[in-house]
Amino acid sequence: MTQATNKDNWSTFRELVRSGVSKSNWETWLSRLEPDHDGGTLVLIAPTEFHLRWVKEKHGDLVVAAYRTVYGGVGSPTYRVADGPRPELEDEPMERPESGSSRVTNLISRYRFEGFVVGQSNRFAWAAAMAVAEQPGAHYNPLFIYGGAGLGKTHLLNAVGHQALEMYPDLVVRYISSENFLNDFIDSIRRKRPDDFKQRYRNVDILLLDDVQFFEGKEQILEEFFHTFNSLYMAGKQMVISSDRHPRNLSTLEDRLRSRFEWGLLTDIQPPDVETRLAILRRNAEFAPRPVPLDVLEHIAGLVSDNIRELEGALTRITAWSALNRRDIDLETATRVLQDMVTSDEPVPLGPDLIIRTAASSYGYTPEDLLSPSRRQPLVLSRQIAMYLCRELTDLSLPKIGEHFNRDHTTVLHSVDKVRRILRSDRAVFDRVNQLTQELRKGGSVSTGR
Ligand code: ADP
Ligand code: MG
Repeated sequence: MTQATNKDNWSTFRELVRSGVSKSNWETWLSRLEPDHDGGTLVLIAPTEFHLRWVKEKHGDLVVAAYRTVYGGVGSPTYRVADGPRPELEDEPMERPESGSSRVTNLISRYRFEGFVVGQSNRFAWAAAMAVAEQPGAHYNPLFIYGGAGLGKTHLLNAVGHQALEMYPDLVVRYISSENFLNDFIDSIRRKRPDDFKQRYRNVDILLLDDVQFFEGKEQILEEFFHTFNSLYMAGKQMVISSDRHPRNLSTLEDRLRSRFEWGLLTDIQPPDVETRLAILRRNAEFAPRPVPLDVLEHIAGLVSDNIRELEGALTRITAWSALNRRDIDLETATRVLQDMVTSDEPVPLGPDLIIRTAASSYGYTPEDLLSPSRRQPLVLSRQIAMYLCRELTDLSLPKIGEHFNRDHTTVLHSVDKVRRILRSDRAVFDRVNQLTQELRKGGSVSTGR
């Protein structure tokens, strides 16, 4: 494990733990733990023996759950008492800096081939992605992957990056959403540094461009991307591009770009069949703090069919319930917890505006409060819950959600992860999120209770 990954994992781990305890518990106990990543496993160093015992006893479950989320696997961190005086811990930012260096990447660390379950619906896209990762530039250029929301496009793009870097650590790999590509472009013009932009996107070995449908109808960026494409293509650099539909259905794209998308290999991802859904659930359930029985997993696989993100969301609710109640879950309880998903046969089209309005008013705020820059609590929490609900209940991409909140996609991702953690440790939040979900799914009345 590299230094960069350790540092990154540690700050994510800290964030998760922090979001699961009260401020005073955080400051008194958990923030004072220090990491030692020696030998690949995490050792938590506590200032005193008493401190160590206290954390283990009172917050042990949370620490283990956060550890499994961030570091993967089913293990637990170990504890040790510090021997010398404690150096101050830096408060590190959650997100990695964007950088062209091959060591620090902007890839999403949990989206790897190891975690990608292969089935009929995605086998072709997976095989092509593997081939491209193993020999970038040699097979299909570009590799163009299209399919509906929540079917694994972003996961596959990131997996290509991780895999290629593992085999060729010196490669320069850049993952970027089309929206951020556009923002970066606009920024470079505003700052009169167009060459920086060119340098950033043309001097890469692998460009992973997500959600290219975002470029539709945006002439200037289409023009710029056309040149980026040509430059990378001529230099034999690999491109992997995703879209929510086939290039022929990207209506306002010029033919010259559309035809280039078809120069390499076009492959789609279909909604997963029930076996694949179950396999994904089983795999994710391995990391749950408490066992989830097979019939519960089958129940979830039967409820959600065309979006893997929703499938994971349902499992999250189950494991959160189980962690909160300190009880293993059975089919009957699972059916009750997921009751509202059954009625989603005729889905009410849900938009971010309704979600924002509903989440805000549930905490006694206006939508304007929610979208403001204010960082006071519990406003921040209700904002994060609204972002979480947008992610769970709509097909919007992270940048699109961010747009509705005047924030960038990394903030949205961070908020969604944070709410997932809080759901496991805070009953009031769990109940609130469930209630909001049910109201929104029913398209029903707006809650006003505080
Ligand atoms: P998209 O970009 O197509 O909207 P994502 O890549 O964001 O979809 O996938 C949504 C969620 O489903 C992610 O958490 C991802 O890890 C998970 N996922 C998608 N496909 C698979 C798969 N084949 N195996 C395991 N997890 C998957
Ligand atoms: Mg995506």
